[in-house]
Amino acid sequence: MPNAQCPITKYLRRFNVSNYKLAPFLKIITIALIAGVSSVGISLLAGTTKLDRLLGIQKPKGESAKTSLGRAMSADTQSITPATDQMNEVPKTFQGTIVYQAKLKANEKVIALTFDDGPGPKNTAQVLEILKKNNIKATFFMVGEMVKYFPQIAKQVAADGHVIGNHTWHHWYFQMDGATAASEIDRTADIIYKTTGEKTTLFRPPGGFLNNGLAQYARNEKYAVMMWSEQSGDAERRSPQVPMLVKNVLKYAKSGAIVLLHDGGGNRSKSVKALPEMIAGLKAQGYRFVTIPQLLEMQAQEESAVTAVSPVITNHENPDH
Ligand SMILES: [Zn+2]
Repeated sequence: MPNAQCPITKYLRRFNVSNYKLAPFLKIITIALIAGVSSVGISLLAGTTKLDRLLGIQKPKGESAKTSLGRAMSADTQSITPATDQMNEVPKTFQGTIVYQAKLKANEKVIALTFDDGPGPKNTAQVLEILKKNNIKATFFMVGEMVKYFPQIAKQVAADGHVIGNHTWHHWYFQMDGATAASEIDRTADIIYKTTGEKTTLFRPPGGFLNNGLAQYARNEKYAVMMWSEQSGDAERRSPQVPMLVKNVLKYAKSGAIVLLHDGGGNRSKSVKALPEMIAGLKAQGYRFVTIPQLLEMQAQEESAVTAVSPVITNHENPDH
């Protein structure tokens, strides 16, 4: 490297130090610098895996790529909150089935709030605020097209620790062929994942229609098809006033119930107004709030506790079997 071009020389020249005097000194500095920079470079290159391990990033390999992709991508993309404290998985017994509510012991007073048709520009944020104040985690069934328009709001839902479910791309009701149904669901799953890092395992059919091709595709894809056991009526064409919305929810509250509410698909200011009172009323009845995967997990655990006991009894009663 000719000294005339060396930035260090240029820098020192400004202080009137001649090239001649500097030559040996510069050589040492240059060598030291090159050695230093390259060793840092090499150690960075070689240390990538160590760094990944420190950061908790696991690079997907071969077959495991499919399962670890979600976590790896969350860790790689700093803006996405890793879904570590969110339980999105659905117990195997519910995959590919249609669920209206969880069957729990009557004294297990849990209930799941679900919000459909968002994310919306105004009401979703208001709902998030109310849920945060009450320390409640809920489940949001999002429309793919809305996620595309309001990605920041979708991100906020995930960042707040709520579970996101698939509510199709267009919210169509009509009968559709396999390819259309697949596209409606797959595109939505894709944009939810790319936007929030959440992998959807729950599907809710628009309008609750189970026979237009969507639910069939979702079941084949091992989604839990989530219906509801009670609704406020907030999405009806002539939806009731706030006190009636609250009353509707409180009246039919029971253990394992799934409540249908809306944060999108129109002006949902009534739902937003009713929500704090619904929550207060349910709390007063002794309910606590869980997400859909948590609710299903509770039923699975209750059931496995029963089946774990029964074979012993069966063997005892029928020793020949
Ligand atoms: Zn809907």
